[in-house]
Amino acid sequence: MARAKPHGTLKLEMRAKPTSQASSENPRTHIVPSRETRLQRRERTLQIVDRLEELYPDADCSLRFKNPFELLISTILSAQCTDKRVNLVTRDLFKWWPNPHKMAAASISELENAVKTTGFFRAKAKNIQGCCRKLVDQFDGNVPQTVEELTSLPGVGRKTANVVLGSAFGVAEGVVVDTHVGRISRRLALTKAKDAVRAERDLVREIPRNHWVAISHRLIQHGRGTCLARKPRCAGCGLEDLCPRVGLPRHLKIRTRISR
Ligand code: SF4
Repeated sequence: MARAKPHGTLKLEMRAKPTSQASSENPRTHIVPSRETRLQRRERTLQIVDRLEELYPDADCSLRFKNPFELLISTILSAQCTDKRVNLVTRDLFKWWPNPHKMAAASISELENAVKTTGFFRAKAKNIQGCCRKLVDQFDGNVPQTVEELTSLPGVGRKTANVVLGSAFGVAEGVVVDTHVGRISRRLALTKAKDAVRAERDLVREIPRNHWVAISHRLIQHGRGTCLARKPRCAGCGLEDLCPRVGLPRHLKIRTRISR
């Protein structure tokens, strides 16, 4: 992956000697978050936002959808399932039941069979049926556009609501925190929180609102290709100089501190 140019003016200083020729020639250094001031963290966060934009300018939602209804149902199905699998399943699902009225009228066993390969199919079938019935009964078959209304639908939590608002309506109400976003944000010391709601609260405090939607897509792409859950590819990572690698094994860290 091509590296972006270093950004910003953070003055950093190595605490330990680099262990290789390559790293001693690398103009980028690393940060220990406990020594970071609030201002420095904010500046580093903005650098991360800019760098991700350079690295993944076209990152977008990987679920296929033609309208807000399709994205809503796809996102419900994506829990504990890959987007690739969901896209395979929804190709037929939306042919058979293209709108909330038709899907609400489907039997639970038909829905279970249709979504079986996405896992947790009984709960998912029940949720999408309940969701469609409520869309028909209370929202005239339209997908609502507020977090409160969306999260009143069966199977829809804050993450799903943020996905639908951000990617279907272009409304930035929060940052989508899925497993990739949560993991990378902790490694980058943007949050310590393990639960998605608290992590989102930390992210929205530091990240400018106009980046809330895109940052999730970019972090998800980074998590799929570089910052893998088990073996992150730190050596070739475009965020290497901005990342303290919190929670990673010692051999993947270079301890450093910020100059005062
Ligand atoms: S791959 Fe390594 S350096 Fe890059 S964001 Fe993940 S933990 Fe940080």
